[in-house]
Amino acid sequence: MVVVMKERASEVQIDRVIARLIELGVDVHRSSGTTRTVLGVVGAHKLDPQLVAILDGVHEVLRITEPYKRASRAFRPQNTVVTVGNVHVGGDEVIVMAGPCSAETDEQVMATAGAVKRAGAKILRGGAFKPRSSPYSFQGLGEDGLKMLRRAADAHDLKLVSEVMDIGQIELVGRYADIFQVGARNMQNYSLLRELGHVSKPVLLKRGLAATIEEWLLSAEYILAGGNPDVILCERGIRTFETATRNTFDVSAIPVVKKLSHLPIVADPSHGAGRRDMVVPMARAAVAAGADGLIIEVHTDPDHALSDGAQSLFPSQFDGLMGELRIIAPAIGRSICLESTASRGRSR
Ligand code: PEP
Ligand code: MN
Repeated sequence: MVVVMKERASEVQIDRVIARLIELGVDVHRSSGTTRTVLGVVGAHKLDPQLVAILDGVHEVLRITEPYKRASRAFRPQNTVVTVGNVHVGGDEVIVMAGPCSAETDEQVMATAGAVKRAGAKILRGGAFKPRSSPYSFQGLGEDGLKMLRRAADAHDLKLVSEVMDIGQIELVGRYADIFQVGARNMQNYSLLRELGHVSKPVLLKRGLAATIEEWLLSAEYILAGGNPDVILCERGIRTFETATRNTFDVSAIPVVKKLSHLPIVADPSHGAGRRDMVVPMARAAVAAGADGLIIEVHTDPDHALSDGAQSLFPSQFDGLMGELRIIAPAIGRSICLESTASRGRSR
């Protein structure tokens, strides 16, 4: 941290700031120019910069290192690859997760899993515990939903990602899912994050609706600091003044996160756009921007889905998107599941 004193700061003010910093447990290096004094502070990562900014004579406090440690590129320069069986998120291959917003029936989950697998997805997505804005909306099927999802994942050789909404559900969700999803609304549920630091399965951490990238990485830090190194970040759109889309899909977060952190980042263009017709272009953009994967809502009958039908792709749309990604990914030096079994079937 660097503390820049005001131009006319008195010696008394400067001495008081130095004394306060030492009292706070950090080392201070003073350098006085012709007009200003600047204090270099070593060991400031645990200090609240505002505590220093309000002291008399202080002009500005500048942080020079990020407040997160384990999540930062400086801590681990090479990319983290999260391994789920034979699936690797964060390596060369762009990994696609797809499936319904919610598990509804055995038939729906099974048919959707088959369709996304044939198109090239590696991981089935689907919620059994749903964080809905209204308490009157469909809340998910709980354990019955998890059973449907696991059966469908196993039947189609897919891994499974499913949301955990609170600490009390960790054990249950962990019995069925391969990856715990932390939803946008829970990005700042610090007790949940702390607990997920102790599990032995990866965590897909969605960005909060109004979270800065720094806050999001600090949330990842909770999980990493607890001892779980397998965090996958997920950009799912943020709330802005724009009303044309459900959220504003922040494509720029992808290269920003890549620069700041070693953690893999996937994109969720479904929640980002909120409209089926905009999911495909946003998915293309995310892969082009360097996302390590995608998580996409697909439903066999989206117009009758119990949640997020408007943003769910028809299986044929998803298959078409995968075909496009097979052109985009290699153009930026990435691989992707080479051919869909669906199109192989068609060409014969
Ligand atoms: C979901 O994945 O269905 C979901 C609820 O996502 P988010 O937490 O991003 O809103
Ligand atoms: Mn959804």
